[in-house]
Amino acid sequence: MAKGRCLCGALNYELDGPFSAMMHCHCSMCRKHHGTGFATFVVAPIAGFRWVSGEDKLVRYPSSPNGVRSFCGVCGSAGPTTMPKYGIAAAPAASLEGDLGIKPQNHIFVGSKAAWDEITDALPQHDAYPPAFDAEGVFRPTVAPRAGITEGSCLCGEVGYEITGAPMRMMNCHCGRCRLGRAAAHASNVFYKLDQFRWLRGESLVKEFKVADARFHTVAFCTRCGGKVPRPSLDRGVVVVPAGSLDTDPGIRPQAHIFVADKAHWFDITGSVPQFEAMPPA
Ligand SMILES: [Zn+2]
Ligand SMILES: [Zn+2]
Ligand SMILES: [Zn+2]
Repeated sequence: MAKGRCLCGALNYELDGPFSAMMHCHCSMCRKHHGTGFATFVVAPIAGFRWVSGEDKLVRYPSSPNGVRSFCGVCGSAGPTTMPKYGIAAAPAASLEGDLGIKPQNHIFVGSKAAWDEITDALPQHDAYPPAFDAEGVFRPTVAPRAGITEGSCLCGEVGYEITGAPMRMMNCHCGRCRLGRAAAHASNVFYKLDQFRWLRGESLVKEFKVADARFHTVAFCTRCGGKVPRPSLDRGVVVVPAGSLDTDPGIRPQAHIFVADKAHWFDITGSVPQFEAMPPA
């Protein structure tokens, strides 16, 4: 049995194993909902899913005609999904504690992955759902790039922003807060200076959740869809942009894996991007 929770601790649920599948999903909706390049889910029979607390804090957003996504209304963490039609429950692996007894088996929706997201492991890749899963994928239109401008939006599209000029840096963070907040193996963030960033629409829908004992760690999300959105940090003079919210190529690629000492035990880091146990030296 695995226990699941959100970043703020309001959502608590249980999901009985054994898990039948574990996959990395690179679809545009997962990218926006989690703010990352991909989300990782475990799947189990629906009968083994139970709420312990916080179901009243759960916000549901129908992201497609046959899919509902959920998130914590307090902190924005993506929640579990039940699919009665298929008799299964799916939960973000990063929200679950303990040994899951399963490792990621494949990459799905690779056909719609972000340009900055490079898959470096040897797991099988599927353009949409794996052949065994009899379901139709949803593909959303892409955004045409504009010279010198990088654009992004939340999952529902009500919140939009644009950035002028080149980014400062891009990092994949594996710390426990990023894993719970994004409900994903790691966060992928692009950093810009404050004056490069502006909201185009929907700023009033954005909610921030600051981790109580953290100096800076704050999640910003759209209260309608749970999509992770940029967070202008006035104290630091930077904007932290969840790379999954980007609609166009930022022209930068992840430069480091940081806080690797805290990484998920089920996630193997592959590829040549440098790894740092905690913060890299300035
Ligand atoms: Zn929460
Ligand atoms: Zn997906
Ligand atoms: Zn939204």
